[in-house]
Amino acid sequence: MPIITVDNIHKNYGPIQALKGVSFKVPEGSVFGILGPNGSGKTTLLGILLDVLKATSGSYQLFDEAPAKKHRQQIGTLLETPNFYHYLSAVQNLRINARIKGRDEKDIDRVLDIVDLTNRKHSKFSTYSLGMKQRLAVASCLLGNPSVLMFDEPTNGLDPVGIAETRELIKRLNKEGKTIIMASHLLDEVEKVCSHVAVLMKGTLITHGHVDEILVNEDIVELGTDNIDQLLSILQNFPASISVRKNDNHIEAIFASGEAQLGRINQYCFEKGVVLSHLRVRRKSLEAKFFELTKAN
Ligand code: ATP
Repeated sequence: MPIITVDNIHKNYGPIQALKGVSFKVPEGSVFGILGPNGSGKTTLLGILLDVLKATSGSYQLFDEAPAKKHRQQIGTLLETPNFYHYLSAVQNLRINARIKGRDEKDIDRVLDIVDLTNRKHSKFSTYSLGMKQRLAVASCLLGNPSVLMFDEPTNGLDPVGIAETRELIKRLNKEGKTIIMASHLLDEVEKVCSHVAVLMKGTLITHGHVDEILVNEDIVELGTDNIDQLLSILQNFPASISVRKNDNHIEAIFASGEAQLGRINQYCFEKGVVLSHLRVRRKSLEAKFFELTKAN
């Protein structure tokens, strides 16, 4: 069952088209990344799904039904850094949060345990590390035991330790059965944490699907020789490559993942009268892939 189905959603802010016909499904049990640079429409999309914003047109379903309050109670959200009181402890802060959200205060010990803050539950918030502060924010989302969690840029502003702690926590929550939807502008983060991704650029969904299929599917072979133009010309007829291009003083040939066989390439060039001075395969960097995906639009 899809947890969320987004169907052709448009959102305009006056003349600004923040979302231009976005459609995808979030599978149950996934960590679903909404990936895009600043201003691509991620926060707008989350806002619509949480009923904070109204779509200009299009629709969405929650748990395969028309969205209703009972569905939203099943969704824990962390949209921006929550305001915790610095001079209060974790328990005292969560009591306030539970009251605001209408969640049972008896749940507090359970959620502090999940985020590994039991030992420090009576310490003042001001004494927490950045990672602990963010884990407390996640604990607040977990009050009432929602089955779905939505995070907007969950590691923004954290130090490297805090980033690692938060990513581990997200993965652990997913293993324990939560479906997680997270907006991020960090390709690396999506690759490390998410099972699925939807790539947004200027309000348009460029691609979506399983992370392994979307983000890593090509190898690049770098080739160098004295006569670059001759090399370029012969490689254009090499059977297995997807495309060939000149890059400064070398050539890059792009292959489907696993198809780049250096021995065959070397032999082919030699037989055509080109002796290579440089030949190496490198995995297409995810950044390059993301850049290409976004540049095309
Ligand atoms: P960021 O990571 O910077 O928050 P984002 O991907 O979440 O970016 P949105 O915040 O959804 O993107 O913004 C999408 C577009 O809509 C941007 O061009 C933004 O300037 C515009 N926008 C967002 N909110 C409003 C608003 N209230 N009024 C007018 N334009 C807005």
